[in-house]
Amino acid sequence: MLDLLLPQRCLACGRTGAQVCAACLGALPRLKPPFCERCGAPTAWPVRRCAECSGRRLAFAAARAAVAYDARVRAIVAGWKEHGLRRLAALAADEVTGQLPRPEVDALAFVPPDRDRRLERGHHPAQRLARELGERWDVPVVAALRRTGAAPRQRGLDVAARRRNVRGAFAAATTVPRRVCLVDDVYTSGATASAAASALRAAGARQVEVVTFARALRLR
Ligand SMILES: [Zn+2]
Ligand SMILES: [Zn+2]
Repeated sequence: MLDLLLPQRCLACGRTGAQVCAACLGALPRLKPPFCERCGAPTAWPVRRCAECSGRRLAFAAARAAVAYDARVRAIVAGWKEHGLRRLAALAADEVTGQLPRPEVDALAFVPPDRDRRLERGHHPAQRLARELGERWDVPVVAALRRTGAAPRQRGLDVAARRRNVRGAFAAATTVPRRVCLVDDVYTSGATASAAASALRAAGARQVEVVTFARALRLR
């Protein structure tokens, strides 16, 4: 209630005005090529695999993101999740379509909400981002995945622990088309994206690409 009486502030810098002010919007840490062809990490030159993903079994063909997950972007994504700010999904979708080519796919899928956390958030960023991207790219969105249990918390775990933690966490809710783009708000270690892509492939997808709004950098 009190929120309604207070002036709106920029989620990133706290300045009074828009949810994300023009200065912060202009200064978003947009990711520029070259990238690792596979996991989308920015690299010094184009590579097929990078230090972050070499030797890892990833169920997706390629992952790409629009912006780096730095402190400002983290504050924006947190506001998006906690307050269900609908305009942020549109902002994120504009960034994604401005930065990334439209994927050659038959449908968009999204990392499904965790039953427990959906209540806290009021809405689900990955699902809403998928819907916004589906409109912009003119691709159907399918609710292809479900959680097999409570979503394990990934925060604070290293890559190997994240992978173990999330293995088998998703199952297909429906049959899926051959070429699918999996949408999520943030790519951290790739463990969640890979587990979700693995479930999509088990349900009939032959090619899974991953698109996220933000991407964590330099995680080992
Ligand atoms: Zn700002
Ligand atoms: Zn890589």
